[in-house]
Amino acid sequence: MSQGIIFNIQKYSLHDGPGIRTTVFLKGCPLSCWWCHNPESQRKKGEFIFLRKKCILCRDCERVCLKAAVKFTENGLCHDREKCILCGECFKACPSEAIEILGKKPDVDEIVKEVEKDRIFYDESGGGVTLSGGEPLMQIDFVDGILTALKERGIHTVVDTSGYTSWENFKRIQEKVDLFLYDIKHMDDEEHTKYTGISNKLILDNLKKLALNGNKIWIRVPIIPSINDDDLNIQRVCNYILSLNLRDIFILPYHNIAIDKYRRVDMEYKIPDIQEPSNKKMEEIAEKFKECGLIVKIGG
Ligand code: SF4
Ligand code: SF4
Repeated sequence: MSQGIIFNIQKYSLHDGPGIRTTVFLKGCPLSCWWCHNPESQRKKGEFIFLRKKCILCRDCERVCLKAAVKFTENGLCHDREKCILCGECFKACPSEAIEILGKKPDVDEIVKEVEKDRIFYDESGGGVTLSGGEPLMQIDFVDGILTALKERGIHTVVDTSGYTSWENFKRIQEKVDLFLYDIKHMDDEEHTKYTGISNKLILDNLKKLALNGNKIWIRVPIIPSINDDDLNIQRVCNYILSLNLRDIFILPYHNIAIDKYRRVDMEYKIPDIQEPSNKKMEEIAEKFKECGLIVKIGG
């Protein structure tokens, strides 16, 4: 039975597809978007998370760590990612819940058992299960196993993807996916590469193939002020979506709520000065998409 690595299962979600859903967040992503809300999703392995405010400096974590991955210096707790084997002993020893180990490794059966508990909500609301991330298709065997089991049980399935994976992976699962949530971050390849770490070519090619194959797709565009909210980019997104005969688009306002998360997982937040777009600005952008003939919603 295929096993994967996840960092969260969120119940009663209303933003990851139709109806009431359970969203399973898989760990690992080939992109590193500067505005990522879930930096803890990016690395495929588990995460040691330190909540400095809760630490009472008892140093029990240092004492129990057999790998010497925790050390105290004049700067406080220092964690060595290279040495850490994520055994969780420090988490167990910490009396003040200042340490979390993020990343569970369930198998397909465990996921299916968990998401089936809320079946009544799916049936009554037209909801189901969404696989998100990170990039879920990085764990294709695990994802395929879950989708197969959910389809056998008649549960509606959504895959929320960056689109950056081989076409073989999409081919393998497309029949088992009722709806794809598909991100377009930037139409300009150079800008895309600058802000996400990879080219948009494969992403746009896969989107085209999925659309031509008749898959149901909702496009999602994060609106990041001064990065992708200019008229030219909006128009290029419109043109591309229309050329694929797609109609549904969700525009997601940038939020800077994740800054603290970056600190906790020891990653740099590259756009601390960017302000969240105003409601007025979001409405203006929505209007531009509507003028192109698209069905637009603001938010997930
Ligand atoms: S998870 Fe294990 S190896 Fe890593 S810091 Fe904690 S005790 Fe040490
Ligand atoms: S065990 Fe917990 S409270 Fe004690 S020093 Fe380590 S992180 Fe801080």
